[in-house]
Amino acid sequence: SMDSVGETATGTGHRRRRVLFFPLPYQGHINPMFQLAGLLHARGFAVTVFHSHFNAPDASRHPDYSFVPVPDDGAPPADSPTDAVQATVEHILALNRACEAPFRERLAALLETARRLGEDVACLVADTHLLALIGVARGLGVPTLALRTGSAACLRLFKAFPMLCDKGYLPAAQLDAPVVELRPYRVGDLPSAGNAARLGKMREVLLRIVAAVAASSGLILNTFDALEPAELAALRRDLAVPVFDVGPLHKLSPAAASSTSSLLRQDRGCLDWLHAQAPASVLYVSFGSLANMSAADLVETAWGIADSGCPFLWVLRPGLIRGAPPSPEQPPPLLPDGFHAATRGRGAVVSWAPQEEVLAHDAMGAFLTHCGWNSTMEAACAGVPMLCRPCFGDQMGNARYVDHVWRVGVELDGGGIERGKVAAAIAAVMDGAGGMRRRALEMKRRAAESIGEGGSSSLNVDKLVSLIQSLYV
Ligand code: UDP
Repeated sequence: SMDSVGETATGTGHRRRRVLFFPLPYQGHINPMFQLAGLLHARGFAVTVFHSHFNAPDASRHPDYSFVPVPDDGAPPADSPTDAVQATVEHILALNRACEAPFRERLAALLETARRLGEDVACLVADTHLLALIGVARGLGVPTLALRTGSAACLRLFKAFPMLCDKGYLPAAQLDAPVVELRPYRVGDLPSAGNAARLGKMREVLLRIVAAVAASSGLILNTFDALEPAELAALRRDLAVPVFDVGPLHKLSPAAASSTSSLLRQDRGCLDWLHAQAPASVLYVSFGSLANMSAADLVETAWGIADSGCPFLWVLRPGLIRGAPPSPEQPPPLLPDGFHAATRGRGAVVSWAPQEEVLAHDAMGAFLTHCGWNSTMEAACAGVPMLCRPCFGDQMGNARYVDHVWRVGVELDGGGIERGKVAAAIAAVMDGAGGMRRRALEMKRRAAESIGEGGSSSLNVDKLVSLIQSLYV
């Protein structure tokens, strides 16, 4: 609550400086924000989390943090069965509008309390989707840091998006044509490439992200230098703000932060099942918290998995089928008749998994993924080869990097999922074909290096901490 803002003193007898956080209330944005909060808390900062009612965090799982709910009435959650992307984009804009005034009120009250108690507030770390709230903070004299939860390449692409539209890449004529200004992207990897109707709104949302970065005192990215050296260099060249690549955040954060910031209950029983499997033998299947597929694609995917013959752990999330709004109350999607009999003893199906632990498990052989950035980072850092089945937003671009740049996975043929192709692709990735597994393990080593002593991300965390020490309201 706001009165507990004055959490006092470390052992050294002075008050802790407070860092404020405001995550975008979606799983893939909440996890890295809480990982960052955990990291900064461990470095001695007090933590206050502002949050919407929608997808509110469970305060009881973070007894060391203060929480300030901000009403987001008038911003109904995304539930368009016809176009989930459009609905999410609209929801993000509506959240900005709905939270603006109540956030101003609550932030002003917090600052007033802090002044009264003589406590320092350093800054607000906000998701780059929350431009209006970044504006509110700056209006009240609070410096902001922008957390972008996607890749460096993706932010670079967002910055270039208006230029690419002006050059005529979008609306898309030819999906497999290269974007020569931004290799290795193809036109089909651009957000909204498959849907001209939402191009205008997408353009607006991406402009706002870039504006949120420009309005801040620094940009924090969940990536690391060895993964995206050229992309990070380009961002440093093109942005006027300092860039802190501090990934992989899930490895730097002291607690398994995503297990405490998970919105759905993670089924830990599947870890016991994994313990019983042979090393590098299991296919893990998950499409994250938002991606969806048609009922027909689910059937083909299921038979592809069955026909591959390998053991599998499948996260069958409620709302995975297109047309069904994501809601925890919903029953999980049904698998085709005969699937369970065909795979008996070989598979485990859960509705939500402790994914970081699953991917880090010895039994992991490969990951059939939608290529959300967190999933991609978690797999890359665990040395697990990927079979990519991207759905929307930055996922196509992430898959492109996995397949074409890092070569630690392959992309499933986009047009129409077909069981024979799925089974063959699973076999190839499980096999680590063409050096895929070797490169994945090399990437794991480099990720560990980046967060080790003297590693690029470790050094950037130190720089970020110094910057935050220097910020004052
Ligand atoms: N996740 C999880 N259990 C699952 C599936 C996913 O805890 O069964 C976590 C995963 O570890 C990741 C996040 O949910 O941190 C999903 O983020 P990502 O960026 O991969 O995808 P999004 O859900 O945003 O599309």
